[in-house]
Amino acid sequence: MAKLSTVDFPFLINESTKTPLGFSHARIDLHSHTNCSDGSLSPTTLIDRAVNYQIDVLAITDHDTVDGFNIAKGYIKEQNLPLTLISGIEVSCAWQGFEIHIVGLNLDTTNQGLLSLIAQQQQAREDRATSMGEKLAKCGFPNAYNDAKALAGEGSITRAHFAKVLFEQGHVSTMQKAFDKYIGKKGSKAQKAYVKPNWCDIETAISVIHAAGGTAVMAHPIRYDLSAKWLRRLIVDFKTWRGDGLEVVLPQMNPAQRSLMLSYCNEYDLLASLGSDFHHPSRWSDLGKNLTLPQGANSIWSLWQ
Ligand code: AMP
Ligand code: MN
Ligand code: MN
Ligand code: MN
Repeated sequence: MAKLSTVDFPFLINESTKTPLGFSHARIDLHSHTNCSDGSLSPTTLIDRAVNYQIDVLAITDHDTVDGFNIAKGYIKEQNLPLTLISGIEVSCAWQGFEIHIVGLNLDTTNQGLLSLIAQQQQAREDRATSMGEKLAKCGFPNAYNDAKALAGEGSITRAHFAKVLFEQGHVSTMQKAFDKYIGKKGSKAQKAYVKPNWCDIETAISVIHAAGGTAVMAHPIRYDLSAKWLRRLIVDFKTWRGDGLEVVLPQMNPAQRSLMLSYCNEYDLLASLGSDFHHPSRWSDLGKNLTLPQGANSIWSLWQ
């Protein structure tokens, strides 16, 4: 496990962790995106926003890439900004026919195993995007692939790019409708242009994250549309494969959902993480907004102290 130095966490030098200035009361957001994947802000703009919001600790967790983190890290150093940046990635995984996201935190972004996994996932993204483009062409959108690729630029190409293209060209009335009508899958029902991706499995993602010195967190457990029984199965598998924590707090989660996630943490001896999953400024969610761990939660960052 990569230990953070007191340079990374200046609050830890003294006994101040229980004071309002201490780490346990710091504004922490451990899940965010830049335009190196499907976020709309560049890494530097995201950092400026976090500093403006007086966020103390931020993790950039782009889909299957660490490029945004690397750029942001250089920017913080160059500008000497008062923000602790945690390295991160959100790895797309296949599990029992579902797409499950595993967040890796506080890892060595130059680790060879991690870089190989990223290369493999990027290839899977390219292959899926090409097939999705072919299917969308059959639905009457011949330029979808080229337009989505142009939008993604050098970054990870995601379904959000395709959704944005369909929305901006007036083919659907919201980005969500692009998923509902063309590129999404709900339960076993795949839409016309859905393509099964070739993601790694959860066990691989966890072991690569660990080998890179990081911590493995299951992203947004409430968003997978799983019944209680299946969610429990997922958590049991995640724990068996040595996963470290669950995202217990996301802005959209209600108190009942938060306590349910906390009870899973307690039952399966998992740590609690939290994050906004910020992609772009909106009325409902923003960096660091509405994020505090519930009473009784053992934080994921206790591993790094
Ligand atoms: P991908 O990782 O390429 O499958 O892209 C999925 C991304 O699209 C997610 O990370 C979300 O940011 C975004 N998204 C928005 N609505 C949906 C939806 N209904 N289902 C899945 N992803 C969605
Ligand atoms: Mn996303
Ligand atoms: Mn996700
Ligand atoms: Mn995310």
